[in-house]
Amino acid sequence: MIHQREIHHILDGYDREKITIATIGSHTALQILKGARDEGLKNLVICKRGAVEVYRQFRLADELIIVENFKQVLEKEFQEGLIERNAILIPHGSFVEYLSPSSIEDKLWVPMFGNRTVLDWESNREKEREWMERADLKLPEEFKHPEDIDRLVMVKFPGAKGGKDYFLARSYDEFERKIKKLQLQDEKFTIQEYVIGTRFYPHYFYSPLTERVELLSMDIRYESNIDGISRLSYILQNSHPEPSFVVTGNCPVVVRELLLPQLLEMGQRIVKASQELFSPGLTGPFCIETVCTEDLEFIAFEISARIVAGTNLYINGSPYSQLLYDEPMSTGRRISREIKDALKQDSLDRIIY
Ligand code: AMP
Repeated sequence: MIHQREIHHILDGYDREKITIATIGSHTALQILKGARDEGLKNLVICKRGAVEVYRQFRLADELIIVENFKQVLEKEFQEGLIERNAILIPHGSFVEYLSPSSIEDKLWVPMFGNRTVLDWESNREKEREWMERADLKLPEEFKHPEDIDRLVMVKFPGAKGGKDYFLARSYDEFERKIKKLQLQDEKFTIQEYVIGTRFYPHYFYSPLTERVELLSMDIRYESNIDGISRLSYILQNSHPEPSFVVTGNCPVVVRELLLPQLLEMGQRIVKASQELFSPGLTGPFCIETVCTEDLEFIAFEISARIVAGTNLYINGSPYSQLLYDEPMSTGRRISREIKDALKQDSLDRIIY
């Protein structure tokens, strides 16, 4: 694990007038680039040949670096080039998936927005659960042994692979039958109670500078084929295809106003627990994936400790961000605003690791 001190040492060599917001071309890159531009910061995007047209077309990047493979970002010379450009990397879901949490922790010397120790807490399901329990969130029941399955459960696999291979089971027999079909090689899985209700994915931002948790926006993921099946449930009664949960898009949503206190408190408790578990704790954007039950209780089943793709709905601001800011404030822009504020206060080291 590269120590924070070592990253701060590199940051000390940066020209503060020439800070460049950099990210990998995928996921929320357009939003991050626009956010930097709106805040008057230089920006650059690292993208694969096939995606170049996207970033050329929208003309949001001051510089475009083409790579054959995202792992190239970890090469020494490539990293030196980014450091020479005074780059601050902004992590997002694909960034973490392509580079891998352990490579980011051990091999990425370029200063990154946020606290990289969070990656371990987010990607390891046991640690993630410990974090959510510490924050006193209500969680779905988990079954350590498949023999104990006594209700509808969801079987999940590690990593942010967009729900790939997840399956549902009602009993041990069904579990055995379906897991065999996947022909896994020693892969870890989690068996979790399937919570029935409506899903909400609130997008928060924690600023260590103001010590405030902001609720910037919210979405519901659109997932295939489960969201298609629900439209045909009557017709498909006897011949259901196996439900799958592969994310294909995002829908905007707001919650009933009476539910907002619960959501705000959950965000605050996640930040507080992170400070207790891995000081200085979570910095910047995060999302708690929840299901709201008919008793109007939020059950949390996952945390994403970085910008999530659902924020792409709100490049021009959301119903919530408009109440907080008198200007269009996306999560991408909020990240650049935090960096700018930290630069003004000479406290960049508080938000970079
Ligand atoms: P995840 O990889 O944990 O984000 O899960 C992918 C999708 O599966 C979610 O967006 C939900 O639609 C669904 N899901 C995950 N966990 C649960 C759960 N415990 N109860 C109900 N639905 C869930």
